[in-house]
Amino acid sequence: MAGVAEQGDTAWPDSAWVRTAGSPPMWPQPQGDIETGTVVVGGGFTGLSAALHLAEQGQSVTVLEAADPGWGASGRNGGQVIPGLKADPDALEAHFGPEWGPRVVRTVGAAADDLFELLSRHGIACQARQSGWLQPAHCSRAMAAVRQRADQWRRRGVDARVLDGDEVRDLLGCAPGVYVGGWLDPRGGSVHPLALARGLAQAAAGAGAVIHGRAPVARVHREGGHWRAETPGGRVRAQRLLFATNGYTDGLWPSLRRSVVPVFSQQIATAPLPPELRERILPQGHVVSDTRRLMRYFRLDDEGRLLMGGRGPFRDRVGPGDTDALNREACRLFPDVAGIPLETTWAGRVAMTADHLPHLHALGNDAYAAMGYNGRGVAMAVTLGRILADLVAGTPARDLDFPVTPVRPLRLHALRRPAIAALTTWYRLLDRRDERSRSSVEADLAQP
Ligand SMILES: Cc1cc2nc3c(=O)[nH]c(=O)nc-3n(C[C@H](O)[C@H](O)[C@H](O)COP(=O)(O)OP(=O)(O)OC[C@H]3O[C@@H](n4cnc5c(N)ncnc54)[C@H](O)[C@@H]3O)c2cc1C
Repeated sequence: MAGVAEQGDTAWPDSAWVRTAGSPPMWPQPQGDIETGTVVVGGGFTGLSAALHLAEQGQSVTVLEAADPGWGASGRNGGQVIPGLKADPDALEAHFGPEWGPRVVRTVGAAADDLFELLSRHGIACQARQSGWLQPAHCSRAMAAVRQRADQWRRRGVDARVLDGDEVRDLLGCAPGVYVGGWLDPRGGSVHPLALARGLAQAAAGAGAVIHGRAPVARVHREGGHWRAETPGGRVRAQRLLFATNGYTDGLWPSLRRSVVPVFSQQIATAPLPPELRERILPQGHVVSDTRRLMRYFRLDDEGRLLMGGRGPFRDRVGPGDTDALNREACRLFPDVAGIPLETTWAGRVAMTADHLPHLHALGNDAYAAMGYNGRGVAMAVTLGRILADLVAGTPARDLDFPVTPVRPLRLHALRRPAIAALTTWYRLLDRRDERSRSSVEADLAQP
């Protein structure tokens, strides 16, 4: 699969976010020879956060974005600010060991609070609301896992709430019997992701970073003890090089490309719901992602559109023909939405890693990377961008808030596409089996 720079398809997707964010600011293309301290490849949350934090420390930094800031996953996602990673805190502590484990849990647990604090510090207007993230359980096995998750965070001081099926139904405003329960994490919330990306770019520029759009980096190489990043319009010479390309990572650094597998997530947006439905559906403004292996995530936007996302076909552009399963799911969950027209659908790339964890890499010769958010990057990419900036600015790796790990290219990376297709089919079967087993348990319980 060609990367964005190789492919050259840099038109904005027809997303609800693009439709509601206003006209994009024009960032200049690089021209001629440019000198900078740090060159950042990729202008999403990771790259823009790194640039903002470096510029705040008085460092010279230049961002090269193939399309425009926020064009990648950062401007297309669900805008769900979710603290933590997919692995639970106890599992993270076991994985990272006694020295790093508690630090990693602190860092990932604080990611949502840190993002909301950064937004207010810089006055970034992106419809931010810390109204909580809700994870409903689709079967009793998932409910047991959810209970443990909430318990583990509660032991670490989070005011997490376990919810029964009725409470979940009321907070979602959904049909009865779809979810057996869930938990509510008050640290989570929502943003308009494209407005956030553009706001980060403005804040970084305001702090002294140089941001370039339509700047696909075609080649990076060492020359006279410096890095050279070449774009069609200009060449940048820098002491340090950062990769912040996540699911859009191309062949610039081959082992990085092979360390992540891009999968596609697709979203639909209805027309704004009428006031009586807005009062019933997600009345407290929660954002939601469920426990299925092929997770569904949904929320309302500021104008009352219902946005729902899930795994999409293996391509960047999707159209009305691709949305049947998501439509059906929206109507199953919220039967009153059946008559509301769909406004649009779009997709983006999520970067998966073998261990389902994001990674911070030191690539040698003052080159670094942060990527692999596994679909949990709204808060975490901004956090890793900040930590990248600390690393580049000279904080020793042992003092960072997240460990630096070697790049581990996935074996059989070339087979990723058929492997993902097979895994997706298998997960779909398992999710159906879970739901069927729940229905049969409920049917048994309903017997007199
Ligand atoms: C549909 C969808 C829904 C999601 N929903 C959520 C959610 O609700 N909550 C959550 O926490 N996470 C969510 N995510 C994940 C989250 O969006 C990402 O983890 C996060 O945005 C990653 O940010 P990033 O800056 O690392 O990468 P990106 O935002 O993808 O930015 C990478 C950039 O690199 C640029 N680039 C690539 N190659 C080059 C090159 N050679 N030269 C110059 N530029 C280059 C690309 O153009 C791109 O803009 C979702 C993702 C998708 C796709």
